Amino acid sequence: MKVIVVGCTHAGTTAVKNILAEQPDVSLTVYEKNDNVSFLSCGIALYVEGLVKDVQGLFYSNPEELASLGANVQMEHEVLDIQLADKTMTVKNLQTGEIFTDTFDKLVMTTGSWPIVPPIPGIKSENILLCKNFHQAQTIIAKAQDAKKITVVGGGYIGIELVEAFVENGKEVVLIDGLDRILNRYLDAPFTDILEKELTERGVTLALGQTVQEFVADAEGKVAKVVTSEDSFASDLVILCVGFRPNTSLLKDQVDMLPNGAIIVDEYMRTSNPDVLAAGDSAVVHYNPTGEASYIPLATNAVRQGLLVGKNLVAPTLRYRGTQGTSGLYLFGQKIGSTGLTVTAAKMLGLNVGSTIMTDNYRPEFMPTTEAVLMEIVYEKDTQRIVGAQLMSKYDITQSANTLSLAIQEKLTLEDLALTDFFFQPHFDRPWNYLNLLAQKALAEANAK
Ligand SMILES: Cc1cc2nc3c(=O)[nH]c(=O)nc-3n(C[C@H](O)[C@H](O)[C@H](O)COP(=O)(O)OP(=O)(O)OC[C@H]3O[C@@H](n4cnc5c(N)ncnc54)[C@H](O)[C@@H]3O)c2cc1C
Repeated sequence: MKVIVVGCTHAGTTAVKNILAEQPDVSLTVYEKNDNVSFLSCGIALYVEGLVKDVQGLFYSNPEELASLGANVQMEHEVLDIQLADKTMTVKNLQTGEIFTDTFDKLVMTTGSWPIVPPIPGIKSENILLCKNFHQAQTIIAKAQDAKKITVVGGGYIGIELVEAFVENGKEVVLIDGLDRILNRYLDAPFTDILEKELTERGVTLALGQTVQEFVADAEGKVAKVVTSEDSFASDLVILCVGFRPNTSLLKDQVDMLPNGAIIVDEYMRTSNPDVLAAGDSAVVHYNPTGEASYIPLATNAVRQGLLVGKNLVAPTLRYRGTQGTSGLYLFGQKIGSTGLTVTAAKMLGLNVGSTIMTDNYRPEFMPTTEAVLMEIVYEKDTQRIVGAQLMSKYDITQSANTLSLAIQEKLTLEDLALTDFFFQPHFDRPWNYLNLLAQKALAEANAK
């Protein structure tokens, strides 16, 4: 059987390793248009800040490793066209310019995503950069060296992490977002209020609820000013972090997709064409809080789905458990975990949810130190099923977001969590763990209504 994997970052690398482990006899070719595999974009902000010194540490595999496992790895080869009807594709060797045709029995689409570039006047000016791959990370670092005023457009986790990195490097930073809160997708207002105050105190100019109208360039064509709906900001460098779009035009009208182009896959990563599997940022995820297909581009989803491609290439074997879009964030000493739906997101989807917020110290006050934990739990009003949660503390409570992620995946209710057996040891928590207490408070409030 001849298998072709298109795209080799997280979903592709994991798929290749698992296909070859499960099906050692297949002939497997990988086409990757870039010159590297497995780059961890999540390390870009740490690299920009200078916390990560050796950028090679941000790769966990390489073409040689995949070749040693038996893959025919074709780097700097771009797939230009795919015809599923006759199982052929056109490929361009980007080094030589040669264009050729290849054929396959099974196709794995792990072409990922690309940053959205909105059609704003002046967007092609020099020094307006994207932040996704290794080469872009290098460019950001090189250009930031001479930049004094940096504007980040987009207040999601990628934008915020870059803002922190630039602040730590002594830059004057402006953060622009069209919504009126940062991290809108991951956190509700009680959390973002604290973080926005922290950003402002560190000197960041927050331009929230403003949309970029124009980038004005200087005589040399370099960006000089960002004009928004309400203001304008002198800028030497702009980083665009306004979201991602799946790279799936190669299969347009050939497999089923969401309106944004994410390939629809079933629980075994099969697309609407039985010989095509997809994984990672090019595909949808099954979002457990709503039970629907959703687009949540995360490396965690990419590696899980990549593994499932390997397990299910020939026959459905291992079922995908879906995702809660669980995320962790470290910002100016605050450790933040978020899973599932926020209240804001649930209301936008028209869901009937309740929520409870509380603050408690993570361990007893008789200990030499303790730290407050701000927590929120979101639940379906009708069933009291948990659909989301957020936690923030100076103490590292982020693993609790993973506990809550499992609770959502397993459809636990407030009552289940209120009585779950968590250990007690004064170094770490109280006789009632703070997650028990959060669920108990939510249960009392929900039942009182
Ligand atoms: C700055 C930043 C920080 C992030 N931080 C986190 C984090 O902390 N945690 C987390 O879980 N996620 C994080 N993510 C998201 C994560 O990086 C993505 O979800 C992940 O990269 C998806 O992997 P993928 O393999 O599906 O797709 P991609 O990484 O998009 O890779 C797709 C690959 O396909 C190749 N390709 C595309 N088209 C073709 C073609 N026609 N021919 C040949 N090759 C092709 C591309 O060159 C690329 O190498 C972050 C992303 C960014 C940008």
